[in-house]
Amino acid sequence: MRLNVNENTHPIPEAVATDIVTALAAAVLGVNRYPDREFTELRDSLAGYLGNSLTRDNIWAANGSNEVLQQILQAFGGPGRSVLGFPPTYSMHSIIAAGTGTRWIAGERDADYELSPETAVRWIETATPDLVFFCSPNNPTGTPLSLETIAAAYDATDGIVVVDEAYAEFAPEGVQTALSLLEGRERLIVSRTMSKAFAFAGARLGYLAADPAVADALRLVRLPYHLSALTQAAAIAALAHSTEMLRMVDDIKGQRDRLLEELPKLGYPVLPSWSNFVLFGGVADPHAVFEALLEQDVIIRDIGIPHHLRVTAGTRAETSAFLSALRTISRIES
Ligand SMILES: *Cc1c(COP(=O)(O)O)cnc(C)c1O
Repeated sequence: MRLNVNENTHPIPEAVATDIVTALAAAVLGVNRYPDREFTELRDSLAGYLGNSLTRDNIWAANGSNEVLQQILQAFGGPGRSVLGFPPTYSMHSIIAAGTGTRWIAGERDADYELSPETAVRWIETATPDLVFFCSPNNPTGTPLSLETIAAAYDATDGIVVVDEAYAEFAPEGVQTALSLLEGRERLIVSRTMSKAFAFAGARLGYLAADPAVADALRLVRLPYHLSALTQAAAIAALAHSTEMLRMVDDIKGQRDRLLEELPKLGYPVLPSWSNFVLFGGVADPHAVFEALLEQDVIIRDIGIPHHLRVTAGTRAETSAFLSALRTISRIES
């Protein structure tokens, strides 16, 4: 079983799948024509889903949030410009920076991968980047980022501040995300994806919320008709069922909490997680544990942090299988 790339391991509910197929069947009859290049209905659906008084003018979308991030760097980064990030963080941030010719500046975090307003501001003042990339909750650590840090970083730069919120739906009930900071901050961008909470990784739909001027800037760099009619139809149909689509998120959070509780009992300290995965430490030889789990058909992720491994919270059965496989290995390890 694959617990290595933080996919949602739950399939989408069958009733929703049927609706998506119906929408796709209707859309396919029109694929002789180019799709709606403004994907207006989809932007309406996404704005409705996010709430926070956002409208379609605040929304932009592309084929996965990786493409959204690439378009952001095509528009606001590029040769002669720089982006500051705070490793360990989502590896695609620096890869997309390299691909767009944007200089990547690696900032540093506080103890336990925290990032205080003071540390973020100090890095911004020293490095004077054109863009700042945050990831909240952060991949691969799972740790959340405070709104105070984001707001302080915004005030410390006149560049673009991007918050990658790929895992926002896995946060505790009722907490505010960076969406609540958008009002009055026209250089702030909040990036989201349907890949994780919506179990839509294979459909490729990422999006952002920001000031309408940001979407206008991205209209200059996107390729014409970048979102296919089929992608638009599938995403609109899925968003119409967001309640059912997100029903498994609570299950996954339950399994994540189980990992947070059980791993320390096996001698592996964990970091707090607001995402659908857990980073655990205390691993004498991460590569050996990875290989031993693989032998039992469990794939997790060695992200290169010494003595740490990352595991995605799966279904109850998958999480149980991972924990019992790890139990057999722990005995060998110690
Ligand atoms: C998984 C992930 C994404 C998702 O990328 P898509 O292209 O939307 O599938 C984005 N950001 C982070 C931090 C992720 O972990």
